[in-house]
Amino acid sequence: MLHPVLLHAFNPGPMTGAGNNTYLIPGRRTVLIDAGVGDDRHLDALARALEEHGATLEAVLVTHAHGDHASGAEAIARRWPRVEFFKYPSPERDARYPVPWQPIAADERIAAGDGFLTAIHTPGHAPDHLVFWDESSRTVYGGDLAVLGSTVVILWSQGGSVGDYLQSLQLVLDLNPIRILPAHGAEIDDPRALLTSYIVHREEREQQVLQALDRGKDTVDDMVASIYPELQSPLRRMAAESVRAHLAKLEQEGRVARNGDRFAKI
Ligand SMILES: [Zn+2]
Repeated sequence: MLHPVLLHAFNPGPMTGAGNNTYLIPGRRTVLIDAGVGDDRHLDALARALEEHGATLEAVLVTHAHGDHASGAEAIARRWPRVEFFKYPSPERDARYPVPWQPIAADERIAAGDGFLTAIHTPGHAPDHLVFWDESSRTVYGGDLAVLGSTVVILWSQGGSVGDYLQSLQLVLDLNPIRILPAHGAEIDDPRALLTSYIVHREEREQQVLQALDRGKDTVDDMVASIYPELQSPLRRMAAESVRAHLAKLEQEGRVARNGDRFAKI
């Protein structure tokens, strides 16, 4: 049984909500899940938590290469030079954060606290996304897999994939977790309900995309205008990413064909 300490990253904003959650797991091998953005208040809270637990930070496990999860690595490395940094490799993106990244493989068992975590590769939100599974407490450290009261953004232009995301949701459902500790928002104490609602939501969105095609809306912009008539930019841009990601899934499945920026049902 691991005992995580929640440490806020102090980076509230339009994309991060109240800001990121990071989780310190003190013990024989003290690890921090996600690096935050290097805010001094985060680092100070981390220093205090380490002192309270008489712990030495040994490793930072990063869920994926988005800046709000990974960019704090450099500041942590400056303050704790012996700490090692780990993530699922995404060489081009990882290079933005200049620390020596060490690779985590899918299904790798990682010593953490007084126990172990298993890294589960869960692409979809990002190609390199990992969640960390503590079987002893049936807890998932969820990164951006799920956010209570919201859906998760799939940025097609940055390697997001709806098909992968749906498979990742199923993978985590199959673990039968009793809670998810997410990188944004409150603890999720009914993972099954939330993850199942996400699958339903994506199916509904896919139907909307197919219906828009039926109505002759054959470009992403036309589909966004028809599916989300009220939306203002920049939310419109996010909606376009989501629609494009759904079209990519339908293309992969051979249900939709693309010709330049026009799409048609097959
Ligand atoms: Zn993210």
